[in-house]
Amino acid sequence: MKTDLKQLSKQQLSLFMETLGQRPYRTNQIINWIYRKQAVSFDDMSDLPGGLRDELARTASLSNLRLARKRTSKDGTLKFLFTLNDGESIESVLIPNRKGGDSSTLCISSQVGCAMRCSFCMTGRMGLKRNLKAFEIIDQVIAAERFLSHNPLISRPLAPAAVKDTHHTSQKSGITNIVFMGMGEPLNNFNEVSDALSRLIDCMGFSRRRITVSTSGIVPGIQKLASNTLRVNLAVSLNATTDETRSSIMPVNKKYPLKKLIKACRDFPLSPNRRITFEYVMIKGINDSVHDAHRLVSLLRGIKSKINLIPFNSLHDDTPLRPPAEGTVLAFQDVLRKCGLTAIIRKSMGADISAACGQLKASCQL
Ligand code: SAH
Ligand code: SF4
Repeated sequence: MKTDLKQLSKQQLSLFMETLGQRPYRTNQIINWIYRKQAVSFDDMSDLPGGLRDELARTASLSNLRLARKRTSKDGTLKFLFTLNDGESIESVLIPNRKGGDSSTLCISSQVGCAMRCSFCMTGRMGLKRNLKAFEIIDQVIAAERFLSHNPLISRPLAPAAVKDTHHTSQKSGITNIVFMGMGEPLNNFNEVSDALSRLIDCMGFSRRRITVSTSGIVPGIQKLASNTLRVNLAVSLNATTDETRSSIMPVNKKYPLKKLIKACRDFPLSPNRRITFEYVMIKGINDSVHDAHRLVSLLRGIKSKINLIPFNSLHDDTPLRPPAEGTVLAFQDVLRKCGLTAIIRKSMGADISAACGQLKASCQL
């Protein structure tokens, strides 16, 4: 049976090349072709000798996610639907940088569906179908980069301050940031996610400062992430300030209540200038009061944090949940800011194509 090179870690690929009698620099050439130049076949690998390419074609293969559909939002956000080898589907979302230019954030999936069943999230409605393998996680990035190399993002007019930034980021590729905020709970698929993280950093050249793993609050997973050497950013979907409310919208809170979760965040090692992001989906009448804002301030006291306030995105179904009025969101933000916290209201990108936070469900009706 042929060996799929995308399923191998960097170390395993070196070993494989060794079995073919190849010198170590050939491994680096192949890594470069797979992870940076998005090669789809061994024929693309033009700086490898013809004999080696033939041998690879005989003994190895290169899997590729199949791009089943793509939709573009009026704000420039792109949603990709990929089909996996077993016929399951996942979604990834490419969000152009708000400042303009050709840099962007790719929001990737770590599972098909999600077992956590948060009441406000469409992915949770699917339940968990399966974990993604590391190569299926990475391939979302490779496929998006390949897409961008043929279809550069349409730049919006640049403010003078953004020009320098764009110049800097365009040296690598259009994707500058990776967030594990697509389908699934990444810390419930820890081993494959951490293998994918290693490859993003070692093989694709992404800076660990520009990669964020978001969790609904799997405490042992946060502790494992804290103790390994990957040192990527942590985001925690907090979404409520009392156990009662949090458990009612996020069942995970019954297993890992706020006290344990906040302690794990407090213990999470942060390098200078790094902070934990707390996501807070604001739902009308559930978690949006000024009392909640004050409780949030108390909960996060002493943690280097920034807060993303995300007004609830409609799920286009019969859920009674609604976003708060704009004034309520602003009042909430005001309390946080006056207490010295960084709080940003996240305008939802891609809501018109169901690509916004919580709307991913990998349906074929993209
Ligand atoms: N499972 C991980 C990663 C997915 S991130 C996690 O929950 O953190 C998905 C983000 O979108 C989370 O911060 C979640 O709180 C938010 N979200 C889910 N449903 C939403 C909705 N309907 N409107 C706005 N944000 C939502
Ligand atoms: Fe899963 Fe995150 Fe959605 Fe909750 S918010 S159901 S953890 S993807």
